[in-house]
Amino acid sequence: MPTPNESQARGAPDEALEVCDTDSEYGLGVRTLRARRKGEVIHRFTGVVGPELKQHSLQVQPGLHISETSIIGFLSHSCDPDCRLDMERSELVALRDIPAGDLLTIDYAETEDVLFRQFACHCGARTCRHWITGRLEGPNAEGRAYIARPAP
Ligand SMILES: [Zn+2]
Repeated sequence: MPTPNESQARGAPDEALEVCDTDSEYGLGVRTLRARRKGEVIHRFTGVVGPELKQHSLQVQPGLHISETSIIGFLSHSCDPDCRLDMERSELVALRDIPAGDLLTIDYAETEDVLFRQFACHCGARTCRHWITGRLEGPNAEGRAYIARPAP
């Protein structure tokens, strides 16, 4: 049995990830059970790649989406995420140091041309876009109404 350090040295990520409830309207999320370093490969993903856009799928390239993944389909969105997906290498990578217990987040617009469902974002980032769409689409009718709403 390799120790965790040995398997890290060979480049096999130590998983220590948990799909959990986020206490938010978005349902499930993914938490890291140990601290991560900036640039660390947190997870290597596999799944089923096909032409269909699904609720928990992620876009691998235009017209191709990966689904039935164990982790990445449950990542929460943030406009200032702590992780990114490398779709060529099938890796989830830390964008900064992440303490143990933190939710892992990605920016959905980084990979998705079109979202399965657009949504209002309350991520709290200074750069929050407030209404999240894919990178090649504008806000839908609900989004335009949300953006035009009077300030509270
Ligand atoms: Zn946001």
